[in-house]
Amino acid sequence: MTRIIVIGAGVIGASVAYRLARAGAEVMVLEATRPGGGTSGISFAWTNAHRKPPKPYHDLNVAGMKAHAALREEFGATPWWHGGGSLEWEPDSGRAAQQDNVRQLQSWGYAAEWIDHRHLSKLEPDIDLAAVGEAPVAYFPDEGWLDPVPYVHAMLSTARRRHGATVILGARVADLIIRGDRVCGARLADGTPHEADMVVNCAGRWTNDVVREAGLHLPLAPMVGFLVFTPPVATSLNRVVRSSVINARPDGAGRLMLHWDPTDATLGFDHPLSPSMPEARDLVRRARQLLPGIGDVEPEAVRIALRPIPGDHLSAVGPVPRIAGYYLAVTHSGVTMSPFLGHCVADEIMSGQMRPELADFRPARFFN
Ligand SMILES: Cc1cc2nc3c(=O)[nH]c(=O)nc-3n(C[C@H](O)[C@H](O)[C@H](O)COP(=O)(O)OP(=O)(O)OC[C@H]3O[C@@H](n4cnc5c(N)ncnc54)[C@H](O)[C@@H]3O)c2cc1C
Repeated sequence: MTRIIVIGAGVIGASVAYRLARAGAEVMVLEATRPGGGTSGISFAWTNAHRKPPKPYHDLNVAGMKAHAALREEFGATPWWHGGGSLEWEPDSGRAAQQDNVRQLQSWGYAAEWIDHRHLSKLEPDIDLAAVGEAPVAYFPDEGWLDPVPYVHAMLSTARRRHGATVILGARVADLIIRGDRVCGARLADGTPHEADMVVNCAGRWTNDVVREAGLHLPLAPMVGFLVFTPPVATSLNRVVRSSVINARPDGAGRLMLHWDPTDATLGFDHPLSPSMPEARDLVRRARQLLPGIGDVEPEAVRIALRPIPGDHLSAVGPVPRIAGYYLAVTHSGVTMSPFLGHCVADEIMSGQMRPELADFRPARFFN
């Protein structure tokens, strides 16, 4: 049986581990902290293929959306995935680009339509139309969002219980075990060696922390992502809304998750965090413009993360040149793509057949 180590139990590692174990591999997941304890647990987690050129990258994201929907058949129920689509409107300055994007998405066969205020109010009755103004509203019915940590748990626990995978928490990988031109396993920070026929690095933004050999480092272009959470509030918001005032979605038990791109750009990763910080209050004030019914609420929590972005902003999935037994799976938009990437990685490793969908995303482009 092929022994495979998967480093990292975020959405990517959990998906890869599940598919490999289901395909018959002897899988061991080594996770430094806890399942979903990295970037996956601090993600807006909108499943979409929106403004994700070039076309092959868009296609990977669409395949991820379809793979999330298909899990319902396999698992019976997928309480971690929420469909219902997303809504979008832009300030004046963004409308031309939005029109172009919707046109492009439609020409690619992606579900994207313009809706009027009546339709908007039917979908989301609590949204204040004054916050929409004259802006055209686009609706993307196939989009949704994920609860990443319950998703990770579902993949890992199924891999473990049904397919015999081993998941070791608190297992911080310090280096790969390399003999000649082959990776033969991973060594933990406490010195414990784990041997394997193949190591799949799914450590996200920590990808380069698990291998000392600088020649095996993947160039990364990490960017800050900042999220604000409200306490439970009185709103029926049921979808991802990306608007001219705020991006918001439900986050369970009546809480809202808020994101605002311009704020990301003002914060360093080391910025001191507190729910009372002005940036957090500003996001909640913006949410109140969208949903006045939430009232005079204060932020309950704030979180910040570094997005795992390969140097050219596209995915890096595949073997690493000149060294056998080593495979990378690192990407932004990983929440959207993870179930599809799980399939692809398992196919490539278990059957040796290279998936054409990944042809443009090989790590080799960084190492040659
Ligand atoms: C604010 C924000 C918003 C986002 N919004 C979206 C979105 O709307 N849609 C979307 O699709 N994507 C979005 N993303 C990106 C998405 O969240 C990531 O692409 C995805 O979570 C990456 O998953 P991963 O499994 O690769 O990484 P991670 O979840 O970080 O998993 C890596 C794991 O490796 C572990 N690890 C680290 N070092 C070691 C070590 N030495 N040994 C063992 N284990 C180790 C970590 O503990 C972690 O659990 C967003 C990201 C952020 C930050």
